[in-house]
Amino acid sequence: MSQSPRYQRVMLKVSGEALMGDRDYGLDTATCRRIAEDVKGVTELGVQVCMVIGGGNIFRGIAGAAAGMERAQADYMGMLATVMNALGMQSALEKAGLPTRVQSAIPMASLCEPYIRRRAIRHMEKGRVVIFAAGTGNPFFTTDTAAALRAAEMGCDALLKGTQVDGVYAADPRKNPQAERYVTLTYLDMLSRDLAVMDAAAISLARENKLPIIVFNIHEPGAFTAVMQGEGRFTTVV
Ligand code: UDP
Repeated sequence: MSQSPRYQRVMLKVSGEALMGDRDYGLDTATCRRIAEDVKGVTELGVQVCMVIGGGNIFRGIAGAAAGMERAQADYMGMLATVMNALGMQSALEKAGLPTRVQSAIPMASLCEPYIRRRAIRHMEKGRVVIFAAGTGNPFFTTDTAAALRAAEMGCDALLKGTQVDGVYAADPRKNPQAERYVTLTYLDMLSRDLAVMDAAAISLARENKLPIIVFNIHEPGAFTAVMQGEGRFTTVV
């Protein structure tokens, strides 16, 4: 029997790579649609959902810098990549029948709303899924940090990090099938063991704001809903 949700308002962070499906680059619309269905399932539990999407499937600042670009300039390109993903995800969510708004940290008046904290909260109260685009709007940050920042600003009860596997493991379970999956971890465990699930800035921000991080498999249909009901496999960081 399904249980009532554990959280009222959550932030879902999805990396750009998670949207690629089997491709090497860009967006796979079928994958976006599947994730959109899962988001819909969670909203049907009465949970308010906001999202941050990464940009790594299109462009990463660090790769541009490695290729000789100025880092800050490359990071702005990375932020633009997240806007493309946000629009792609918005389309998938709306096709699933969900009302949405995209708010960008870098104003782009013709495409979406600028980021306005109180307006974003109002959208969620009205049942709209808000997608935060362009990360924090600042170079030298990541979308993980943007997700923790916006989650704190929105007063979210949890930060859900959708990954390729169903939690945090002591080693990569795809390379080492014996690797142990943690059920719970502390923020300090994450930082001191350098578990490479989220960057240190994001974890510190979550820690300061007592925001639990829940790591689960974004590719498993229904996993997001299950996690909201405390079922299935995931790792909680508190
Ligand atoms: N980025 C940035 N500031 C931010 C968020 C993102 O400069 O606040 C840039 C950065 O270049 C990053 C790129 O956007 O490499 C894509 O974001 P990220 O690497 O976090 O995406 P993901 O790995 O989640 O797909």
